[in-house]
Amino acid sequence: MLIKNALIVDYRGARKEDVLIEEGKIVDTGRFEKERDNTVNAEGKILIPSFCNMHTHIGMTFLRNKGEGLTLHEWLNKVIWPYERKAKEIKGIIYISALVGIMEALRSGITCINDMYFNMEEVKKAVEEAGIKALLTPDICIGNEGMNEVEKLLNEKSNNIKIGIGCHSIYTCKREMLEKALELSKKKDIHIHIHVAETRKELFDSLKRFGKRPVEYLDEMNFIYQKTILTHASWVTKREIRIIGERKATVVHNPTSNLKLATGGIMPFEEYVKADANTTIGTDSVASNNSMDMFEAMKTAGLLQKHKYWNASSGNPSIILKSATYNGFKALGFKSGLIEKGYNADLILLKPDENMHPLNNPLTAIVYSGKPYNVEKVWVNGKIVYEEGEFPTIDKERVLEDFNEKMNEFAGLS
Ligand SMILES: [Zn+2]
Repeated sequence: MLIKNALIVDYRGARKEDVLIEEGKIVDTGRFEKERDNTVNAEGKILIPSFCNMHTHIGMTFLRNKGEGLTLHEWLNKVIWPYERKAKEIKGIIYISALVGIMEALRSGITCINDMYFNMEEVKKAVEEAGIKALLTPDICIGNEGMNEVEKLLNEKSNNIKIGIGCHSIYTCKREMLEKALELSKKKDIHIHIHVAETRKELFDSLKRFGKRPVEYLDEMNFIYQKTILTHASWVTKREIRIIGERKATVVHNPTSNLKLATGGIMPFEEYVKADANTTIGTDSVASNNSMDMFEAMKTAGLLQKHKYWNASSGNPSIILKSATYNGFKALGFKSGLIEKGYNADLILLKPDENMHPLNNPLTAIVYSGKPYNVEKVWVNGKIVYEEGEFPTIDKERVLEDFNEKMNEFAGLS
């Protein structure tokens, strides 16, 4: 396939070139006079790497808009966990929920998710059918079933799907479980994904229970290393930021979720960049967001940094775009996120409508003016997975019908 005349933008900047794709990979960029059988004329359009959404609970779509107006701990205890216990009685609800979530993800150009949940076998089925990429991390803190899921799924890995270990948090996971997770992670060379330092309550409880701050508590057991993905990581000291940077771990900023759940502390994203941590961006679940929109996540992340540091030059669009694309893929071990020879053809074609014109500064236009409705086409490994409102790999009508059916079943139980 040849994509001709696009304005190519990745975090390094913009250039006008053609992109030649063979067997799912970018094999060359430059100027190609000879047309190919499959030539996409992208004149007037922008070609960017697709997004890697580094923190999702995609099977949780069925809980969208439930438990509004609550802070994290009330929201979990009073609404989310009781509903999730009920959902476990409905086979297939996580699968169909995940498919609806993936449709929403694709509309904003997300082709890869880092997901934590239960019944991950169902999420895996949805990810495979849709043809996207993922790191799936079953939550082992919910009992033996989580660890069994990790071990079962590890035997079914594929090129597009990686398996890791989810540890919900230091307040739901006992120390021995965290140590078990670490041992397995090192043994199998797989990722660990954990929520940490999300709220002030978590911090105070950690000081009371363990005599240590959350990141220090984890670091004491050597939990933080290159394969560790720390999501939220907002209530931290400079020392904790330094630890995470030195360990070369990945942090995920979920700005919309933090704002919605009123967690107070704004994630010190720019300090993590300076400390050399691998900074990435996520949406979190649609129950704590209430949507899955990477453009919104990028813009909110940037604006929060400007606000936090009283510095209008914070929220540099190149760093934000790098965190939403290249850094996420790099963390998960996928060679995507740059438009360059040798990289996977995981790409988005953007149509810059009136909201992006005039195109004075392409990087700023993407990060601060872009919207999901600018997404025209999305490719994974050179294959179209979204095109102008249509999903070639997903039967949208059937999925929405099945989703409604499951939701009725769920309402019957509530
Ligand atoms: Zn989460």
